[in-house]
Amino acid sequence: MCIFCDIIEGKIPSKKLYEDDDILAILDISQTTKGHSLVMPKKHYDNFLAMPNKEFSNLMSKVQELALQIKTNSKCTGINILINTGKSAGQSVEHIHVHIIPRYDENDSINIEFKENAYDLDEVLKTLKGA
Ligand code: AMP
Ligand code: ZN
Repeated sequence: MCIFCDIIEGKIPSKKLYEDDDILAILDISQTTKGHSLVMPKKHYDNFLAMPNKEFSNLMSKVQELALQIKTNSKCTGINILINTGKSAGQSVEHIHVHIIPRYDENDSINIEFKENAYDLDEVLKTLKGA
């Protein structure tokens, strides 16, 4: 069905960090930082919005456990948890997965920058609330 389904089924090799009946965690092939990992459900959902809430909660609970394990063992000083959802957000594999990205210093090979925009906050709220 997709490249991650192929990994889950063992058709494509991967470096497994964790596996149970429902969840697989592997090393991201790009290793953006040392230890960059991906946590995914074995059941295919295109993205996190498509995933039932209970299964998502279970997935995130394991993400927290693994993040703690990674932090302890890699001696990283920070961690980014990232879920890209949709092409405009940088999602390239349409099988929900959570990035765990250990950070060692602010000048490593990942740069997440929030630039400011002067949107009218009341108008933004109205839009988001569907008012
Ligand atoms: P995203 O852009 O959020 O969809 O992330 C997809 C991630 O999957 C990227 O960081 C890729 O480096 C990673 N990736 C793609 N193919 C593989 C693979 N065969 N094994 C491990 N990671 C992969
Ligand atoms: Zn899949």
